Amino acid sequence: MLDRAALRNLRRLTDNEDNTLTLYLDIDQTKQANRNGGYLVQAEAMLKELRSTSGDDAALQADATRTLELVRRLEPRGKTALTVVQSGHGVGEVHQIRVAIAPSVHWRRGAFLRPVVEALDEYERYAVVLTDKQRARIFTSYLGELVEHTDLISATGGKTQTTGTDRWWSQKRFQRHHEQKVALHAKRVVDALHELSLKVPFDRLIVAGPQEAAAQVARLLPRRLHGKLVKTIPLPVTASEREVSERIAQVQEEMERQQELEMVRGLLAELHESGRAVAGLENVVDAVNEGRVWKLFYVKGLDLNGKVCAACGSLAVNGERCHYCDGALHDEAHLVDRLSQSVIELAGRVEMVDGPAAEELRPAGSIAALLRY
Ligand SMILES: [Zn+2]
Repeated sequence: MLDRAALRNLRRLTDNEDNTLTLYLDIDQTKQANRNGGYLVQAEAMLKELRSTSGDDAALQADATRTLELVRRLEPRGKTALTVVQSGHGVGEVHQIRVAIAPSVHWRRGAFLRPVVEALDEYERYAVVLTDKQRARIFTSYLGELVEHTDLISATGGKTQTTGTDRWWSQKRFQRHHEQKVALHAKRVVDALHELSLKVPFDRLIVAGPQEAAAQVARLLPRRLHGKLVKTIPLPVTASEREVSERIAQVQEEMERQQELEMVRGLLAELHESGRAVAGLENVVDAVNEGRVWKLFYVKGLDLNGKVCAACGSLAVNGERCHYCDGALHDEAHLVDRLSQSVIELAGRVEMVDGPAAEELRPAGSIAALLRY
């Protein structure tokens, strides 16, 4: 897994005078266009484009060849592939990332890691407590990796002890005793969660289990933990790790869609005369050319062709001559990727939106941007 230590290492390896080739490639196999090696075609196109605009030298050629080798050997599992190549120094790494990152390619000093660092920063760690009235299991999930914290479970007391005297108790008294034990168990679960939050700080919490038991734990959460609670979901305490992972992924997906929806609504609210946003391809292209885009939004999978000026690199929707320098415009098959690339290079951000956020963005032209000024 690509973690902070691996990123530091990449930075260190490429920290020298020579250029490094960094490529972010969309390899998401749920997209038709990426299947059957479709992402390789995309990588070839991006590198060809880079070589035509960067003054093709021997070092770039060697690094591009090595990058394609790495991509060709890939067995796609993640959403994004990141390659970092500096052949002259023996650096050639490929990493798969479980987060979607806008495609871009960079030829410059040092590995260009800002997009992945930002994506990892935004990625939230989830804790899940799975409990019935007697047992509890605690998990954390980060970047699709699930860890069960069995050490905390023993601290919850595990299975309730049954004492031999139980059967002598009156029904009523037994009932009360049972309720006390259940409440005590819920309290222990909450204590274990608190302990977890100190050991492995998490951003979001899911309480899972048979409804009554889960609801009881949710009720007992102290305010700080309750603030992290996103959902209470029904799930048997014996659920497999795979089931737990799938449920977390679902909740996470819902959360992300919700956050995207809020961002897109915020953007749409800025679409007025004095607002700091533009929508529609033509307006976005202008804003990108002027370096004004802070955050670019587009509907996931949007792929449009357009034009690029060979002389100054400005982008255009159509036409023959560059609006800025009167240079000749050439066809650009992946205009949206080029727009993303420009935004990223100018320290802006790119959000690919899906689901309801995409539905709200579509009437505005499927692409829009928040502006710096
Ligand atoms: Zn131009």
